[in-house]
Amino acid sequence: MRRLMLKGLDLRKPMNERKLAILKIQTGILKIIVEKLLEKGFYWMLPVILSKSTDPLWPDPDFSIEKKIEIEIYGEKVSTMQSMIVQKRVLVSLGPEKIFILSPNIRIEKRDRAATGKHLYEFTQFEVEIAYAKMHDIFRIYEELITESTEYVKKNLSHELEILGRDLKTPQPPFKVYKRSELEERYGNSWQDEISKIVEDPIWVTGIPRQFYDYEDPETGEWRNYDLILPEGYGEVISGAEREYEYEKLVKKLERDGLEKSSYKILLDLAKEGLLKPSAGAGLGIERFVAYIAGAAHVAEVQPFPRIPGIVPDI
Ligand code: ASP
Ligand code: MG
Repeated sequence: MRRLMLKGLDLRKPMNERKLAILKIQTGILKIIVEKLLEKGFYWMLPVILSKSTDPLWPDPDFSIEKKIEIEIYGEKVSTMQSMIVQKRVLVSLGPEKIFILSPNIRIEKRDRAATGKHLYEFTQFEVEIAYAKMHDIFRIYEELITESTEYVKKNLSHELEILGRDLKTPQPPFKVYKRSELEERYGNSWQDEISKIVEDPIWVTGIPRQFYDYEDPETGEWRNYDLILPEGYGEVISGAEREYEYEKLVKKLERDGLEKSSYKILLDLAKEGLLKPSAGAGLGIERFVAYIAGAAHVAEVQPFPRIPGIVPDI
């Protein structure tokens, strides 16, 4: 681990062939996922970074944020982006109904997360949102993106896989779907790590109590959200959900979570007017996905400028 960090931070020497192979694989993956969604008629939106509205990341069983970065610009308080969930919802409600964004996220994770091999304090999400979509529409899209990009890398970048010593298997869609409650019963609180070590193909896990914007069925109490868990211990790579769109429900959940309504003004205004469309979406952690495809030991190995929790490099 320590050796890997130092190697990753040695930015005064040309990259080794391992790092170059990973960057080539990342380029191939991005090409495929962008192409596939453009073929399907998606709008490619550009990200914003500073906003009054960002993902609270709370409550979430995975929450481990040391600091939310809030700064003042032009006399107004803004935060750095933790996820573009609010912007995605607003966009698909106002015009482009199918969107994707390569969205940089800043999440100042607690330092002990350096050792997980999965956490970064800056990373990029491949964010998707579709008006009127349901959970299974999103499953099918990401299953296609994952299998197609895996196939592409195996076919066109076999030399790079060889350099990395990576024997890659293409998973078989549709991926199996599990309930979080069942996994928790069986494996306890660390179900995510446990199941990730056991499964052979990625799996979907649904029904995870978390942020206000994920849809909660009023009758069953079921959360219509999902994570995709990768095999070989690579863990969670996608989080997403069907979304809440009703004003009263959104307000109630924001209050339940102790969040400031003023941070979600446009979302709430649209919902009040009945203009916030029901939608579903998800974000894929690009570095985590590339790390899995490349068989990297730490997700920071994928980054040209590693952003490991607790370690701030000179560049
Ligand atoms: N991107 C996720 C979503 O679409 C939220 C997250 O960042 O976990 O729900
Ligand atoms: Mg997540």
